[in-house]
Amino acid sequence: MARPSKARAASEESSALSSVVSDAPETAVADTAPKGTRGTKRKRNVKQQVKEESEGENDIEERPAPVKKTRQRKAAKVEEEVEPSPKKARKSKKVIEETQEAETTTVDAPPTKAKVVRKRKTKEEKEAEAMPLAARTVGHKLFIGAHVSAAGGPPNAVQNAIHIGANAFALFLKSQRKWANPPLDETHSINFHENCNKHDFDQNKHVVPHGSYLVNLAHTDPERTKQAYDSFLDDLKRCEKLGIALYNFHPGNSVGGDRAAAIAHLAGNLNRAHKETSKVVTLLENMAAGGNVIGSTFEDLRDVIELVEDKSRVGVCLDTCHAFAGGYDLRTPETVQKTMSDFNETVGMKYLRALHLNDSKAPFSSHRDLHANIGTGFLGLRGFHAIMNDERVIGLPMVLETPIEVRDEDGNLQKDAKGKDMEDKGIWAREIKLLENLVGMDVESEEFKEIEDRLQKMGAVERNRIAEQVEKKTTKVKEMEEKTKAKQTKLNFGKAVPAKKGKKAKKEEEADQSDASSLSALPSDNES
Ligand SMILES: [Zn+2]
Repeated sequence: MARPSKARAASEESSALSSVVSDAPETAVADTAPKGTRGTKRKRNVKQQVKEESEGENDIEERPAPVKKTRQRKAAKVEEEVEPSPKKARKSKKVIEETQEAETTTVDAPPTKAKVVRKRKTKEEKEAEAMPLAARTVGHKLFIGAHVSAAGGPPNAVQNAIHIGANAFALFLKSQRKWANPPLDETHSINFHENCNKHDFDQNKHVVPHGSYLVNLAHTDPERTKQAYDSFLDDLKRCEKLGIALYNFHPGNSVGGDRAAAIAHLAGNLNRAHKETSKVVTLLENMAAGGNVIGSTFEDLRDVIELVEDKSRVGVCLDTCHAFAGGYDLRTPETVQKTMSDFNETVGMKYLRALHLNDSKAPFSSHRDLHANIGTGFLGLRGFHAIMNDERVIGLPMVLETPIEVRDEDGNLQKDAKGKDMEDKGIWAREIKLLENLVGMDVESEEFKEIEDRLQKMGAVERNRIAEQVEKKTTKVKEMEEKTKAKQTKLNFGKAVPAKKGKKAKKEEEADQSDASSLSALPSDNES
């Protein structure tokens, strides 16, 4: 995935900076958080971290301690100024960048050691060292984050989460579009534990890796089963090495076969995988697509769970976009209540272990899986307000899988100088703050209405585009159904033979059965 130009600029800035400044500024901000339950541990960590960083391979020089102290105090002050509203968050980012620049120029102590050139930093390492786009909110009852990149290894995902002010995150544990299961790098495992510990991410609760899109545990073909199962089991083992307790995956597809058999096959695979691992909880994600896709209804999820032997090893990750597009309304407090009680009655609230927070570019019950930015889609900000204020989501990891393409206020995509779509991870940073801020906000307030209107306006272009597509497809499907009916009637008048599927129809059906996420307009590593 192409790096967002802003982030790139920031990482270049930071790499230039790192020739002068030895510690990563982002950690200073995150760890000198002023208040909250996690504050004390953080303060303690600063010391440890400073020590480690001075020994780390990226450490270039030794500098007098007083300079460092001043910088940390400054950074802490900046964090206090960070306000939750999107506009203000942007402003704060600027403040942070400016402070950073100012510091660079005021550090005038000459290096006491000759500059040592180390191995070149990767793009991810550079980006991780950049100042965070937003400071993490400390002590909030909601744990909101995003599906971040783990390019270069899982430890980088922690840095990427901090970069956007996340208190929870998702990641891929290996390439999500390849079947290869390369062994997990030992140092990655060690560094992941260390990073989570250092930055107060509870791997048992707030890190939820996402399974591969290729894996279909409901496919009953033996060869396909082996390939899917091996990849799945490998991921679960990675979780256990990384100390991660929750793992989210798409239930799969019956590929036109018997639905009950597919569900039984999936549950059988889960039972096997649970026996071959010790603790990781496998979370079924609800889906949008319908048809052969398993998990588009709460009944599907219930049926799978019913067949899982160890109920402590299974749960659900509820995707708001998938639920909404799948026919579970979430637009108002009343519909959120209704959908939640439906879930409770059918599946059971105790199985709800994580959420994916996405708005929907596609209309209600359209069965299209197209994630929109929070408040810009058909689901809308009021729905998210109701969800964020629902007691049942407190403490659960909630992960954004929203697009990070830059759009203007009218919703038009912004291109960079090379004509490429611009990307900005600051979008996640602002969405996290927005969602956190919805707790206790009055939906009748001017503040709420202003944000609601602005986001709806921003999403109008995409909503209209997709609504048109959905309508066209619905008409087409109806026409085809009528044609088939007519043909069938004609045939029945002649010989009583069942209609055979043409090559084209078969192909189309297969395309429909393939992972619904292929329809998504999201960046490649950020779907579903
Ligand atoms: Zn999802």
